Amino acid sequence: MRRKRLSRSSSHLLEKIENLHSTPLYQLSDLLKDLVVGAQMQGDPAGEQKINTYVQNILDRLPHRLDDRFLFDAYLIQSTLNSWSQGEIRLSNMVIPTYSIDWGHEPPILIQSVRNSQKHRFDIIRIRSNEQEGNPDLIDYPWLFHELGHLLISKHGQTILDRFLPKFNTLISRLKIRSIADTGSAKIKADMITEEISARWIPSSINDPAWLRELVVDVIALWSLGPAYIEAFESEHTNVSDPFLIEQGHPPVELRTRALVETANKLGWKNETQKLKASIKLWRDDLPQLIRNRYISLSQIGLINAAINVTTDFCTTAKIPRLDTPQMERIIGLINDNIVPEESVEIIFGAFLVYEKDETIYENWEANIYQTLVNEIKP
Ligand SMILES: [Zn+2]
Repeated sequence: MRRKRLSRSSSHLLEKIENLHSTPLYQLSDLLKDLVVGAQMQGDPAGEQKINTYVQNILDRLPHRLDDRFLFDAYLIQSTLNSWSQGEIRLSNMVIPTYSIDWGHEPPILIQSVRNSQKHRFDIIRIRSNEQEGNPDLIDYPWLFHELGHLLISKHGQTILDRFLPKFNTLISRLKIRSIADTGSAKIKADMITEEISARWIPSSINDPAWLRELVVDVIALWSLGPAYIEAFESEHTNVSDPFLIEQGHPPVELRTRALVETANKLGWKNETQKLKASIKLWRDDLPQLIRNRYISLSQIGLINAAINVTTDFCTTAKIPRLDTPQMERIIGLINDNIVPEESVEIIFGAFLVYEKDETIYENWEANIYQTLVNEIKP
């Protein structure tokens, strides 16, 4: 009796897995099917139940519907990863978009194939969308590059950390030399600050949250999308309640904003950061006295510049496409000629251009681009 019920639950599960087969998740579908069928053939109800629960948990992490929107987002993700994989690095793994109240990235789904024991990894990116329906808001999509940036450095970011550390250590030893004459409580304070800088900035591994990691990802997104990322960052952060909030994972907004302005200067987007600079100035006037010295030490420009330099060096070596002037002019040309953009950078930067030029035509433009692309992508 019990055996029969379990089999029925397996066949229900298999039906769900089968539905994935005609989607970009066909590879996941095959792996899960092998698992469920394999467990069923073992004739061990407890083992079968265990596998079924495991598979169900994986299915629960997928988006509710694998509809047009899902296809579109999966396409944008793939397009980005392809463009990043033209040079030294390879980002060929499947990345699955899911929908949530905020952007984010989740721990990957890891599955070992029952056929050849090969391990497969499926990364998950959360797209900000209250409902997984309707058109995407492409103006918000520069954050997709930020989240994919996390993925990029989780796989290839060790060189960034390796290059950052010597610069970091030099800065820290300079601080130590400066406080060498300190005694008593001044000495203790100086030691505490240098310890805190290390704790906040340096991840114990490149996958752990730390200030460096977040700044690196901002640089990658700005490198890729230029003013479109500046604009997205601005609308996200300029009204933040406490720009000096010190937490472990994310650097204070004021620090991130300064890093973005510095990066923009370096990459030739100086004129696009007026609003950000105005925000920094306003915030700085209100830097709480209580944390002033500590904050200034934690967010010093030497650390920011070191983070920016190692990241732009990484992007250059890894041949991550940069939105430079020729590239930008090419996309402006596409938009002006009413050509439907195809690559993710063209789509997201194109949306930014259209919105900047005329907000009133943006909605129609976007709906048209979305529909045209979905029709092209659909199997
Ligand atoms: Zn982030």
